Amino acid sequence: MDFVVRPEQKIPARQYDVVVAGGGTGGVFAAIAAARGGAKTALIESKGYVGGIAAEGGCGLHSFYNLWKPFNVEKRMVIRGIPEEFIQRLFRAGGCSGHNETLMRPEYDNDTLCVDVEIYKFIALEMLREAGVQALLNTHAVDVIKEGGRITGIVTESHQGSEAVLGKVFIDATGYGDISARAGAKFSEPNDYPVVNSMGVGGVDIDKYYDFLKDKGVLFEYARGPRSGRQNQIIRVDGAWAKIDPKLGEAVKELGMSGVTTTLHDNYFMFIKVNFKMAVSPSNRDALAEAEYELRRRQQAALELLRSTIPGAANAFIARTASTITIRRARCIECDYDIPLDEILNCTHYPDEVFSYGFHDSAPRIQIKGGKTYGLPYRTMLVKGLDNLFAIGMMITSDHEAHMSTRNTVSCMAMGQASGTAAALCVKNGLGGIRDLPYAKLYEALKLGNVWFDAEVPYK
Ligand SMILES: Cc1cc2nc3c(=O)[nH]c(=O)nc-3n(C[C@H](O)[C@H](O)[C@H](O)COP(=O)(O)OP(=O)(O)OC[C@H]3O[C@@H](n4cnc5c(N)ncnc54)[C@H](O)[C@@H]3O)c2cc1C
Repeated sequence: MDFVVRPEQKIPARQYDVVVAGGGTGGVFAAIAAARGGAKTALIESKGYVGGIAAEGGCGLHSFYNLWKPFNVEKRMVIRGIPEEFIQRLFRAGGCSGHNETLMRPEYDNDTLCVDVEIYKFIALEMLREAGVQALLNTHAVDVIKEGGRITGIVTESHQGSEAVLGKVFIDATGYGDISARAGAKFSEPNDYPVVNSMGVGGVDIDKYYDFLKDKGVLFEYARGPRSGRQNQIIRVDGAWAKIDPKLGEAVKELGMSGVTTTLHDNYFMFIKVNFKMAVSPSNRDALAEAEYELRRRQQAALELLRSTIPGAANAFIARTASTITIRRARCIECDYDIPLDEILNCTHYPDEVFSYGFHDSAPRIQIKGGKTYGLPYRTMLVKGLDNLFAIGMMITSDHEAHMSTRNTVSCMAMGQASGTAAALCVKNGLGGIRDLPYAKLYEALKLGNVWFDAEVPYK
């Protein structure tokens, strides 16, 4: 490879208290929390909208509740605070189904929450504006400015050119850990998930899909909720395609296609996924470009499969795709504490925890015990070796199975509120580093922000 030397540059600089890089699932909530905490806050987002993977990758938001059904325990909403406020607002705007009970597979998740991705993006942006966050959209965070172990700024690129976004506390919510990596944090790249593009498909009827799976005896999950203005409609469905016919199973496997779909609208399926396992980590730009092509090829083939398999879907079409590949993780950033699986499954609560959570994506194979919750310690978000950088979202937790819990949307949102609240408190109290924040202050502020701590937690 050839190299060039870039000359030193004098670039314009803007000053903030808290700078959040990445306006995705977690970053939106980090920025709102920081701004509500009184910090002058900037959010740097490379796309022209916010929401990240929650708005373009998943099927539903897992999960605001404990797993109450299989354990016959009290139903508790464990994630509250700004994420739940957002959901209520989204619901009022017609942008989500609200909390609906999953009607089969109780041992996996009892709470189905489907979103309309376009309303999601809009409401998230609206809430950021109301909180007073400066959303720097279409702006890519490309480098950091450092003094010893402190970050003093993030270098950005936009159509306007290069700029420095200076701050006192920084939150890496880029999913990929771009800021942490640039700042010299240690990281690994496990490359343990496929890359995915999720598409919205029009010209399909979810009732017919549901009937088809039921008639074939392969339906294994569904939920009812509001759809196109009517209550108690099918809004989520999944079935074992491979059991319909082995040939179909083979085709589905080859495409890495999943048949689970959600919807809020008649004649529309959301989040039909095709997966592709890359040979190298998705932080490799050239390999990623190849994968983008491969996924779009697979989407076309998946559409053909939907057309030929589902009754009444002969004229189905791709109505939307994600703007870029999505991934369950790329870099895994080393933080002060790395939460292990056994502590998650044994429902451990910690003296510095910032919220409680109770969902595991591999349930029932791997199950959080007794329908209870575990706590996420503050330490899991502090990037090792850096005084003023939080890492949140899918880039923390090295153990694959532990990550299958912490990385889920609702957990990422809660990490956002926790880190943003903490960042604002650090600024307000003039603290030298994010490790100097007394937990009692953070706990009090999170409680005020409606974060719910499981009753089993002995903090008063
Ligand atoms: C296909 C798929 C399906 C999933 N399904 C579910 C599901 O059904 N339920 C569930 O709970 N979880 C699901 N997950 C997991 C969950 O959605 C993710 O783990 C979570 O959304 C990650 O949130 P995040 O904030 O870490 O990253 P993201 O939401 O990806 O946010 C990162 C943001 O940073 C921006 N960004 C990145 N780099 C830069 C940069 N250098 N400069 C500026 N901006 C930058 C991106 O544009 C993006 O907006 C799924 C994940 C995938 C990939």
